[in-house]
Amino acid sequence: GRKFFVGGNWKCNGTTEEVNKIVSTLNAGEVPSQDVVEVVVSPPFVFLPLVKTSLRPDFHVAAQNCWVKKGGAFTGEVSAEMLVNLSIPWVIIGHSERRLILKESNEFVGDKVAYALAQGLKVIACIGETLEQREAGSTMAVVAEQTKAIAAKISNWTDVVLAYEPVWAIGTGKVATPAQAQEVHFELRKWLQENVSPEVAASTRIIYGGSVTAANCKELAVQPDVDGFLVGGASLKPEFIDIIKSAE
Ligand code: 13P
Repeated sequence: GRKFFVGGNWKCNGTTEEVNKIVSTLNAGEVPSQDVVEVVVSPPFVFLPLVKTSLRPDFHVAAQNCWVKKGGAFTGEVSAEMLVNLSIPWVIIGHSERRLILKESNEFVGDKVAYALAQGLKVIACIGETLEQREAGSTMAVVAEQTKAIAAKISNWTDVVLAYEPVWAIGTGKVATPAQAQEVHFELRKWLQENVSPEVAASTRIIYGGSVTAANCKELAVQPDVDGFLVGGASLKPEFIDIIKSAE
């Protein structure tokens, strides 16, 4: 079975005070055991050491990005080696905000995933179509192309979680319906089965992101191919605990 995965992507938010408050709330939350759900929160780089030392031990941390190769003369970047050095186990790669605003290409994202995995990081790899692409009927073509660019660069999927995040659902309050999410997750698993292997298709977690809240998570969580969530806005609020609880 695929263990339910709930990630909290804090994006570019928070002050030290706010981070301490969120961590206190998380630490006090009653959630299912680690056998049932894997919880990973992703603060901005500068807060990673603070969160790592203050967060309950059954929750883990992720960086929101890392450099595509070995560190060096790349002003403003943070390398995978640095994350490993700080014992940060996870990294989010290819978030749509980086693809669209920072112009990260499919190939660049694939290279990043491969390099981060090779350094020993676990990766939450994000894919998803824009509203324009969905309306043009190219959702599957777009997410298959994004997945293919990753699959081309890696051979071991054990430490990869695939996050399907339709761009039109991110930060909009317009969540995908359970049927819409299930349809894409099912097609992605089929793509993995046909293009990678049946084993990888069966074992890789495919999580949904985009306006997930305590109110809508339960009906999404019961979809057979939805293996968890990547939560943005609601991960900064106490309701994140309720989203974690949708694992059972
Ligand atoms: P929201 O939950 O705020 O829509 O963000 C989703 C997301 O982008 C998580 O990575």
